[in-house]
Amino acid sequence: MEIRYLERNKTYTSPQRIRPVYVAVHSTGSGVTNRTVLFNAWNNPGVKLSCHAMVDDEGWTLTLPLDYKGWHVGSRGNGLCVGFEICEPPFIRYADDAHTRINLEQYNPKDARVLTDFKKRWANAVDCAAYMCRESGIMPEHVLCHAELFAIERATNHADVLHWFTLFGDRYGMDYFRAAVKAALQKPKTTAKNVRRARRRTIEHVIN
Ligand SMILES: [Zn+2]
Repeated sequence: MEIRYLERNKTYTSPQRIRPVYVAVHSTGSGVTNRTVLFNAWNNPGVKLSCHAMVDDEGWTLTLPLDYKGWHVGSRGNGLCVGFEICEPPFIRYADDAHTRINLEQYNPKDARVLTDFKKRWANAVDCAAYMCRESGIMPEHVLCHAELFAIERATNHADVLHWFTLFGDRYGMDYFRAAVKAALQKPKTTAKNVRRARRRTIEHVIN
């Protein structure tokens, strides 16, 4: 995890404070495949979009303070949600212009490369969501994707992330995602002391 705020985006330069009760999970649609590209696109005073974190296969970046209002789910939910974008992989392909149907001939969830890449993005997203829950006091049950927030009338009508996650079966559905966030929250936080202890164990193991 790293912190790099969208210092040129209006949601950072003219912040409105919020007390979020949901974590909104988004994915970018094809075209924006890593968080540097997404950050550069949105770190701009003319862009009317922003989010609190950006996730890709290598990690995640906090891009707005969690009590600043972002622009990612529309006016019915922006004041209630912190949200993050998962960048979709460069080799994903869509069957429609609206980017709601993934072309399964070109992006096969059973393909080892596809699954390995997905698991990395998914794990980083779980870590990011757990951080947001912990820092903002949000229950893991309130981690909802954009499509789920639309279903409860808190967001604009978008398909993410269900159009993507559901290709991988129930094991990677949003219920399992929330369960993974809950499990991550129950794990003790990594502290410098724990890291030192783990390192010492490793050294002893090598010596013995
Ligand atoms: Zn979205």
